[in-house]
Amino acid sequence: MPRPIRAYIDPQAVSFNIENLKKRMPTAHCMAVVKADGYGHGLARIFSGLAKADSLALLELDRAAQLRELGWDKPILLLEGCFDSADIEQALALNCDWVVHDAHQLAVLSGLLTKLKVAKHKPTLYLKLNTGMNRLGFDEAQAPAAIQAIEELSRVAGLPTPVLMTHFANADAQDLQNSAVTPAQQYERLMHLKPAHWKACLGNSAAILNCPQWAGDIVRPGIAVYGASCGPQAASQYGLHAAMSLRSEVIAVQSVQKGQFAGYGSRWQAQQDTLIGVIACGYADGYPRHAPDGTPVWVQGKLVPLAGRVSMDMMTVDLGPGSTIEPGADVELWGTHLPVDDIASACGTIGYELLCAVTPRVPCLIGN
Ligand SMILES: *Cc1c(COP(=O)(O)O)cnc(C)c1O
Repeated sequence: MPRPIRAYIDPQAVSFNIENLKKRMPTAHCMAVVKADGYGHGLARIFSGLAKADSLALLELDRAAQLRELGWDKPILLLEGCFDSADIEQALALNCDWVVHDAHQLAVLSGLLTKLKVAKHKPTLYLKLNTGMNRLGFDEAQAPAAIQAIEELSRVAGLPTPVLMTHFANADAQDLQNSAVTPAQQYERLMHLKPAHWKACLGNSAAILNCPQWAGDIVRPGIAVYGASCGPQAASQYGLHAAMSLRSEVIAVQSVQKGQFAGYGSRWQAQQDTLIGVIACGYADGYPRHAPDGTPVWVQGKLVPLAGRVSMDMMTVDLGPGSTIEPGADVELWGTHLPVDDIASACGTIGYELLCAVTPRVPCLIGN
């Protein structure tokens, strides 16, 4: 029998979450972000659940090709844009739209004006502004010239009206007014520069959930599509459903006496006589090795604490004295019973990282 670990991927949860997000901003265009193979869920596995999105966004050209092969015929946006003329040709062939975020990308694009003029697919260009995140985008001094250049290029090449875009640094903040760079400030910087006939594309998941008034005409939810949280509240508070459940089984039970230890480095010591459950899941499956003792694990309906270091293929939990759990008992590492955000916060990270880190050796099944 193969190891019992499995990731269950639920396209219906994806669909449900997209509907939830669309209801929050009924007039916005909802572009679901599916970079990193759909945040680790697998594009092919979640594909049926994406149907209600108005468009999709990612970075990887080969994945854009996969979406087209799967039958996606609505827009696809390349979030980091095209870096050379070969990228542009591929993006055109795949019917993609793309971001232009710096002078180099703009120069490459301008050099291909003749090609754009005759292109069958007319891409919408998303001009990205740096409004305070200081990651990608034209800064406020460069913006007016870049906007003019893109406007002119789009007009000459017969492309649709461009879109002005930026990315929030703190839309997930508990106190939206008091972060170093607030969503309101970023929104105002963008709106101040935006030509009236261009649309504004700002909101990530956190903005849609916390401050939709600054999310713009086109929104780009990622993590919320997969049912994990990005803000001060739990995903369930926002009515989101987990799209991934990482499950396994107890494969052995050890009785330990008070004072005995479990695992490498003997990090965990029994404070009383108890039973240790050994679970078929380790860091080679993508469970974080730095998970501390006490990190919750769902075992047959009950949360029990991690006890001892996570090893490559296994982990150990304290089932408690008198536990009747036996090998074969169902375990959920995260998912519908145990939010991935709870594991992430115990481990000092975010759900995004855990979802993306499930390793290829974990078999994935469709379902919940
Ligand atoms: C990843 C990404 C998003 C989605 O962010 P979430 O926090 O997952 O909603 C939106 N916009 C850009 C540019 C991104 O890179």
